[in-house]
Amino acid sequence: MSEDPYRVLGVGKDATDAEVKRSYRKLARQHHPDRNPGDAAAEERFKAIQAAYDQIGTAAARKEYDQQQRIEEMFARGGNPFSGFSGSGGHGRGSNPFVGKGQGAGFDFSDILNQFMGGKGGGEPQFQQQSRQQRRPQQAPPSQRGPDIEAGIDINLQQALSGTKIEFGHRRLRICKRCEGTSFNSRKACPQCSGKGVESRSSTITVNVPSGAQHGQQLRLKKMGHEHPQGEAGDLLITIRLDAEEGRRWEGGKLIQEVAVTYSTLMLGGAVRIHTPAGKRVQIEVAEGTRIGDRRRLAGHGHDGGPLDIEFILAEPEQVNKNQKEALDRLRDSGL
Ligand SMILES: [Zn+2]
Repeated sequence: MSEDPYRVLGVGKDATDAEVKRSYRKLARQHHPDRNPGDAAAEERFKAIQAAYDQIGTAAARKEYDQQQRIEEMFARGGNPFSGFSGSGGHGRGSNPFVGKGQGAGFDFSDILNQFMGGKGGGEPQFQQQSRQQRRPQQAPPSQRGPDIEAGIDINLQQALSGTKIEFGHRRLRICKRCEGTSFNSRKACPQCSGKGVESRSSTITVNVPSGAQHGQQLRLKKMGHEHPQGEAGDLLITIRLDAEEGRRWEGGKLIQEVAVTYSTLMLGGAVRIHTPAGKRVQIEVAEGTRIGDRRRLAGHGHDGGPLDIEFILAEPEQVNKNQKEALDRLRDSGL
């Protein structure tokens, strides 16, 4: 049973790819076996962190993982991910790319099909259920529409403010060039698409990100999803993610910035200077008795003039000098 990789890496589902990487590096350093020799718990944690990285650490792996999750969620909700694509009803099953077993090879959907056919963990019972549903005669005929594609793109805060154009490449099902979709649901086999009516081709599009784009905002690009051989194309849904750079993260649409404070400042109070997302340097008063994890909201210092929530974390020195060691000794002697 593998853990949720997002939780293992301590990032939100809406984290940018860069944020996922940063969090991984930090945790891997922290739990590295070299730093915790002979500690089974640390080693287990480290392995979990590595496994999570394998799942979502690169943009490509994460795309695949997220897609997989979406399918599982659809099944969990009892939905039919192919309802838009199963226009064949009961007849011509062999020519429907989503029904014909083993015909998915080379498709964008091959992993979906694998899942469906029990290839990748737990798909089998749902497939059975799915088949029964499809054959049920009283079921309303599904609409003829290709499935939507969901994807995320990362931009930086500046690009979000000014708006930007992003080249986005993805593979999707397109109408077969050779038979123009006519072989779908017919006895006529097409050598190019084997009677699926669609083939996987890559598309590159320019996504216009409007100025003032928000983190988590979704852009719907009409008909840029998978094409249907006899119906409408699905849409491409792009979620914009704003990369907020080192030490910052999104949490439910709120921008959180970590502020490292020394132990003595936490205990005694004091001041720290921070860099805001807008590049300003701001001094923050730290109240006496501040605790790690305490937060404070700074109005107007967040992205695009919004609020910035700062979270106090402990500044951990790489090394302590002789003076500091002596001071620490005295601190320990005093009972702290
Ligand atoms: Zn064809």
